[in-house]
Amino acid sequence: AEEMMDRTEKLSVVGQLAASIAHEIRNPLTVIKGFIQLLNQMKNIQYLEVVLGELKRIEEIINDLLVLAKPQSSKMEKLNLKELLESTIAFFQSEALLHDIDIQTNIDLADPNITGEANRLKQVFINILKNASEAMPDGGRIDLSAQKLQDGRIVIKIEDNGPGIPEERMQNLGQPFYSTKEKGTGLGLMICYRIIKNHGGDMEIKSKVNEGTTVHIFLPEKGTLPSESDEKGS
Ligand code: ADP
Ligand code: MG
Repeated sequence: AEEMMDRTEKLSVVGQLAASIAHEIRNPLTVIKGFIQLLNQMKNIQYLEVVLGELKRIEEIINDLLVLAKPQSSKMEKLNLKELLESTIAFFQSEALLHDIDIQTNIDLADPNITGEANRLKQVFINILKNASEAMPDGGRIDLSAQKLQDGRIVIKIEDNGPGIPEERMQNLGQPFYSTKEKGTGLGLMICYRIIKNHGGDMEIKSKVNEGTTVHIFLPEKGTLPSESDEKGS
């Protein structure tokens, strides 16, 4: 089933992105400006909380955007995917426990070595684990598995049993600033698509309302580094 959508086209619309970034950052700045003025007149310290909250939001947006700002494949290295997944889950475990989320793993890789950027891949896994966890505020289950496919690629699946994503929203996933969360930046998935593409891989999201969501991350065979003229198949 080739239902995967190519996100790179959307990502290349730099002007559109610049406009939405400007918009997203101007909103909290307007709020901050207003409350600083109020604070100045009324000397009410409680307004500081609003200001700090909005500053935090700007900080989150900037942090997410900085991930995209660095040039691609700068630190591709040989790394052990099994260890990377395990350390990522260990890192995420406290958050999972806090939200009553049970993480099950099944990493079935005879040869866990891949070529990649450890920190960026870790960021992808964390973004997806976070989305799964945020989709299940009353707790739930996340299944993470990794295995080798017939064609040599590795597939990592991260499955949750949350509310799922309605069909009509699927096309929005990965678009900058698309979020259904009050405090979301809507940058997480866009960053994931970008990082996985830079690794010569692919990402697909499958979801069923009331059943859950599964993110599939495909990574190329060990040693396959992405290059500009790299056209898979023919
Ligand atoms: P954010 O998490 O900041 O909202 P993302 O790009 O990470 O931004 O996700 C975009 C949107 O995709 C989310 O707001 C949510 O609506 C949807 N989404 C992503 N992952 C899941 C999931 N596992 N279950 C349900 N909805 C999801
Ligand atoms: Mg997210």
